[in-house]
Amino acid sequence: MKDPKTYFIRTYGCQMNELDTEIMAGQLEKRGMTLAASEEECDLLIFNTCSIRDLAERKVMGKLGRMGRGAKRQTLIGVAGCMAMAKKEALFRKFPHLDFVLGTNNLAELGTVIDEVLYSQRQVLRTEDRFVENLDYLGAKREDQVKASVSIIRGCDKYCTYCVVPYTRGEEVSRPPESIVEECRNLVDKGYKEITLLGQNVNSYGKDRPEWSALFHDLLYRLDQISGLERVRFMTSHPVDITRELMEAIRDLRTLCEFVHFPIQAGSNRILKKMHRIYTKEIYLEKVALLREIVPNVSLGTDIIVGFPTETEAEFEETCEALRQIRYSVAFLFAYSPRKGTPAMRWNDDIPEEVKSARLQKLLEIQEEISQEERKQMLGQTVEVLVERFNRDGEHLKGRTRCWKKVIFKGTEAMIGTLQQVTVHGYSHQTLVGEVRTGGAIPLL
Ligand code: SF4
Repeated sequence: MKDPKTYFIRTYGCQMNELDTEIMAGQLEKRGMTLAASEEECDLLIFNTCSIRDLAERKVMGKLGRMGRGAKRQTLIGVAGCMAMAKKEALFRKFPHLDFVLGTNNLAELGTVIDEVLYSQRQVLRTEDRFVENLDYLGAKREDQVKASVSIIRGCDKYCTYCVVPYTRGEEVSRPPESIVEECRNLVDKGYKEITLLGQNVNSYGKDRPEWSALFHDLLYRLDQISGLERVRFMTSHPVDITRELMEAIRDLRTLCEFVHFPIQAGSNRILKKMHRIYTKEIYLEKVALLREIVPNVSLGTDIIVGFPTETEAEFEETCEALRQIRYSVAFLFAYSPRKGTPAMRWNDDIPEEVKSARLQKLLEIQEEISQEERKQMLGQTVEVLVERFNRDGEHLKGRTRCWKKVIFKGTEAMIGTLQQVTVHGYSHQTLVGEVRTGGAIPLL
């Protein structure tokens, strides 16, 4: 097998995986490799996988299976991401043509793993259980020119019974605040205007390193000092760890956007307990009420799972009620599917697929009604939009409000990367349509 000159990384799943792909791409380019036009034409193909949903796993398994059937193969093939951690050497047994398996905690070893495969002509496995801070974040190859993601904590200690993350990404490891600030400054110097702080549970930031005296809200205050940084977002939060200090930071900090992803997962206390979410509906609602009192213009997002084992119709109705009562701006809704290695896998997946689909459909309809009303209320309002790029139609520019609403409007290329005041005059599906207010540019710091 020859030394690869070109690479392609196929990414599945969450924003954390997208960021890991950027970090791996940076390492490969440092090695002198270039991005290939497609996965069919590269010397090195990496699947950066996700184990959260069954469908994402099946897609990768199908692709890997088909690749093994080809004629004499020249491409080096690797599996990274959560599936690498969940299946480890079992992947080699199933796919003898696979060259390496690289766990989520071993990204820094990508180069040495490639060398080892080339040198030994054997399959190579690297899957540490715990993450050690050793990544070249500054070398990441970014796709976007305006927004960037920055990792602040990896892993999760919450052990929700349906979730593979604690097993595929290990326990929580916070990144030193100085390293985060340095990366954010570097991004702003390169022209980035918006940074999303990433972690499975960003609100746990710093708790594993009390000697730093830097919790999540402390970090946010430090980042707010960076001149030229316009917006900071974070993803994602566990409701239990959302503190009053964080809520006050959202109210007080110039850069911090008024949008919180606040996943409730279910509206029934019995199901929440079975999910090991460690809060009750009442505690959750109290947090929402406090957040809305401190930050009246805040928008909320959520994740919800329907059809969790033993969920009754009445318990599902409690979830519907929570959705109506809380009125999220965005809701990511899923039908439960058991994931190998999780405690919930041991339970009978007893809700028939057609019942799960019907429940999902009902929630989608409730959410659509709420979103529709919210969009109507926005007609005539003028909102601040950070312009990201041209929309897919090629005619409009696309950007987001501070509350994460997508807005399109007519404008020029020079507006990309600027803040514009846009008056909303319509909407199409989830997207608001507007017009730039004359003299609408907001001077950037
Ligand atoms: S908080 Fe729960 S759902 Fe979120 S990553 Fe951790 S274990 Fe998974």
